[in-house]
Amino acid sequence: MNNTVISDVPRYLCCQCGVCEAVCPHRRIEMIRDSVGNYWPAGPDKCKDCKSICISVCPGRKIRIPDKSDDSASYHELIGQYFKIYVVKASDRKTQYHSSSGGAVTALLQYLLTSGQTDGAVVTRFKKNHPLEPETFIATSSEEILEAQGSKYIPVPACRTVRDIWQDREKRNKKYVFVGIPCQMNGIFYAKQRIPRLQHQIPLTFSLFCGRNATLELTRYALKQHNIELEDIRDIKFRSHGWPGKMTVVTKDGQTHIFSRRSFLIPWTNNFFNPDRCTTCTDVIGENADLCFGDAWLPEMSDDKAGLSVVIAKNKKAARILEQACDSAYIDIVGDLPIERLLFSQIGQFKKKKSGVKSVYFMEQLRGRKVPQLTGRLPKQTKEALIYTFLSYINNNISKIPIFSWVNMKIPMKFWDIISHPFKKNVVRD
Ligand SMILES: Cc1cc2nc3c(=O)[nH]c(=O)nc-3n(C[C@H](O)[C@H](O)[C@H](O)COP(=O)(O)OP(=O)(O)OC[C@H]3O[C@@H](n4cnc5c(N)ncnc54)[C@H](O)[C@@H]3O)c2cc1C
Ligand code: SF4
Ligand code: SF4
Ligand code: SF4
Repeated sequence: MNNTVISDVPRYLCCQCGVCEAVCPHRRIEMIRDSVGNYWPAGPDKCKDCKSICISVCPGRKIRIPDKSDDSASYHELIGQYFKIYVVKASDRKTQYHSSSGGAVTALLQYLLTSGQTDGAVVTRFKKNHPLEPETFIATSSEEILEAQGSKYIPVPACRTVRDIWQDREKRNKKYVFVGIPCQMNGIFYAKQRIPRLQHQIPLTFSLFCGRNATLELTRYALKQHNIELEDIRDIKFRSHGWPGKMTVVTKDGQTHIFSRRSFLIPWTNNFFNPDRCTTCTDVIGENADLCFGDAWLPEMSDDKAGLSVVIAKNKKAARILEQACDSAYIDIVGDLPIERLLFSQIGQFKKKKSGVKSVYFMEQLRGRKVPQLTGRLPKQTKEALIYTFLSYINNNISKIPIFSWVNMKIPMKFWDIISHPFKKNVVRD
């Protein structure tokens, strides 16, 4: 009998990606949503029918930090290999305005679909009658791509959709783009190693940058600041209406509420209400992806109020796709971004996940917990980053104490604003 992820991966290591469900040859694992919006794998503790495929693909247990593989590319220890870094926006102004950043993901997917370079894209929208229940699906039209635009700052088991690509006979000779966050890119990489056919079926991966995810508790807190209960909403967009974007909520009585993201952002960027696994994560951009997308959190980028995306092409093929999409008028390449500006724009994230993360590993091991196994190099740890990361870790653990959650609902947002972390000068604020 072999172990499965159920016995081998404690919840604090699980990033809720769903790749274990996708690869299980006997369909023994299923991601189940709990009452607070987390997704956990359910299934047997032990199995005898396969050599623990579920464990071998699990990105909760191990993190691949890839080395440079192309001599003509550049390399930086905080983002790995990169070919070029672009500032991009969707050519269609409406797409740009209603996406999270500049709509680069949405516009590029539309280009790849309409030019016949992909048969579909794995993207995530909210279920029609269940706001805040994410639904990852294979979009095969521009309209469906558009339905999925916008970031969902909640747990999403996106990788489970890979099962459809792998097991559906009709999809065997088709090609798909997978869109997700860095831990999911890691899971897709391991799944491709175990199931080689997936290398042809998913030739292209798009990663969103990810500083941290948020539990549903954070959304509850943010809405409470506006006297809205989670149970009363019919529709939600975490960011739209330009950049940095506003939270838009439609309540069941038909009213639309548009408000600043600050009630969400302030506790979030102080590392309250992050899923546990995010504290041990070492990937900001999605180092295993082909193209990585983030916000241009830079003062010099904040003039375009409809938003801009920063896009890192990790290899030559990815850079070519981007430039072809620009030639075909799906995106506008506004310019190149020097690596130093990219690093500055996400400085807190790089401290927490790269040059200070060892303080969290130390604390976790002190508590007798497992930590993800790293295959690759971390940069040199610095004293300042180690302290910053340690404080983030403390904040996150405090927010998991039930009484804190209860008290927090009564604390006005101003409190969080005052204790905001010292790096907020780098954040463009709305
Ligand atoms: C949890 C999370 C944390 C993030 N942290 C940062 C950060 O620290 N710094 C930063 O610069 N950017 C961060 N981003 C990325 C940022 O919010 C934008 O998604 C990114 O800049 C792309 O914007 P866009 O306008 O090009 O994408 P859009 O055109 O709006 O398209 C977004 C695409 O992403 C997919 N998607 C959205 N949410 C998820 C999800 N949770 N899981 C899988 N797929 C999803 C959608 O299906 C859609 O296709 C984060 C995103 C998420 C989801
Ligand atoms: S050990 Fe194999 S058969 Fe059992 S749950 Fe894991 S992947 Fe499925
Ligand atoms: S991290 Fe992903 S693969 Fe690992 S147990 Fe959790 S859902 Fe499954
Ligand atoms: S911080 Fe890391 S583990 Fe957490 S959601 Fe983002 S990529 Fe996944």
